[in-house]
Amino acid sequence: MPERSRVSLHSRGVCRRFFVGIVSSTEIIICGGFNVHAIGIDIGGTKIAGAVVDDEGEILAEDRVPSPAGDSKAIEDAVVDMVVRLRKQHDICGVGVAAAGFIDAAQSTVYYAPNLSWRNEPFQAELAARLTMPIVIENDANAAGWAEFRYGAGRLASDMVMLTIGTGVGGAIVANDALYRGGFGTAAELGHIRLIPGGLPCGCGANGCLEQYGSGRALQRLANELADAGGIGRELAERRAWTGELSGTDLSELIQSGDGGALTALRRLGGYIGQGCATLSAVLDPQLFVIGGGVAQAGDLLLDPIRAAYLENLPARGFHPEPEFAIAELVNDAGVVGAADLARIAADRSA
Ligand SMILES: [Zn+2]
Repeated sequence: MPERSRVSLHSRGVCRRFFVGIVSSTEIIICGGFNVHAIGIDIGGTKIAGAVVDDEGEILAEDRVPSPAGDSKAIEDAVVDMVVRLRKQHDICGVGVAAAGFIDAAQSTVYYAPNLSWRNEPFQAELAARLTMPIVIENDANAAGWAEFRYGAGRLASDMVMLTIGTGVGGAIVANDALYRGGFGTAAELGHIRLIPGGLPCGCGANGCLEQYGSGRALQRLANELADAGGIGRELAERRAWTGELSGTDLSELIQSGDGGALTALRRLGGYIGQGCATLSAVLDPQLFVIGGGVAQAGDLLLDPIRAAYLENLPARGFHPEPEFAIAELVNDAGVVGAADLARIAADRSA
């Protein structure tokens, strides 16, 4: 991929109205007169995180409160209070709110949010009525993927796929320098592409989804299977007997200590994820896959089997340029940074 300076990132849409010229291959953009600070809010199942973020993706102020999950009015009140607190210290151009669930293509209505009991909630309009500034709503995995594209592992790519390997598998697609939301706004549910026909039942109602084979929960299942089988899984079985169950922390410790059973479980997990990436390549042809989430802390121990399985399963392999595989860089802040940036872009477009 060509080397691009941080300055040229602004040409992706944020400040293009202030374009003043080209010096060699680097575009010089001036954002004078336009307020480039935005607030990003990430509504999780247990907490609501918010931040004022500048146009370099740097966090200038942060706030965090417990999430009143299940009470939509209380969530709305908490978001409004947080915005009021954060904007006291900073002039801001807009607010981006990220939440798990299906958001419509207009970034305004939450069709469905599994953790928050929202069904067709007109959240953007509700917030806009109480906060006199531009508001956008975004799926949390999309917001995190956008942050990686703008400021993290994907900043040199134009086409990128992000897979977040947490309890489940989240996804985001950037195609031709833009977040791909689909016709109804619910694209990039990448954890629910079918990997194994007739495979394990998934919470989404289908069978054999990538999430059942490539998630943190799947890693625990694979580790338990190895523990049950004995042999290379002996350490896993001993740890399980000691702690009662194989937690993510147990597996992380055993992976870092080089335990053969834990590493085998991780390799199998990576193998499934790599198969999924090969399928995604046939559709989207990204230059880069970014792997995020807690399991991605394993670094190359996870990326190596992903890359190997990808190459084994790639249609027309040998004739397809090989994309890069990278670990996400923004980790905990990606949701708020991405949501803020999407708000800044929307504010700029509407100005
Ligand atoms: Zn599914």
